[in-house]
Amino acid sequence: MASPLLINVAELLRRAGSIREVDRQIEADVFEFADSRIVAGSQVDVALTLEALSDGIVVHGTLGAEWNFECRRCLRPLTGRAEVEVQELYQAVISDPDAYPITGEQLDLLEMARQNVLLAVPLAPLCRTDCPGLCPQCGADLQTASCSCSRAERDDRWSALDALRTDES
Ligand SMILES: [Zn+2]
Ligand SMILES: [Zn+2]
Repeated sequence: MASPLLINVAELLRRAGSIREVDRQIEADVFEFADSRIVAGSQVDVALTLEALSDGIVVHGTLGAEWNFECRRCLRPLTGRAEVEVQELYQAVISDPDAYPITGEQLDLLEMARQNVLLAVPLAPLCRTDCPGLCPQCGADLQTASCSCSRAERDDRWSALDALRTDES
């Protein structure tokens, strides 16, 4: 499938200083994120300005995407929106090792956008900074439930079991 973010930049390349805006909403599926954190079927907002330099085109603006994940402590489902500011260079003749290519007077924003969105999506979110998480013994969600487990003094039944285990070894 042709990239929906393939932009013809012939005009821009002729005149340094000229500008082109790209404002689109693109289906997340098109990016092939292969990352379950990106909400399937959601839209990625692309609001970029392309600006011609003498040796390339600088692309700057913002990308926005919806994500869903779970709290790293209590596994509660979370959703959010990642907004990322980008500033990237495209060049027909690559002189900057970080530059993306301009090929045949066209540049493709898709891969650049894909990489930047993935970097902006949280890797280990928390539902709140002081989330107490789950009880390591009974699995109770300590944010909504208090359990009778105590991490210091354990239940007698468990002590008995421990004693048994020690005998066996
Ligand atoms: Zn949590
Ligand atoms: Zn517990």
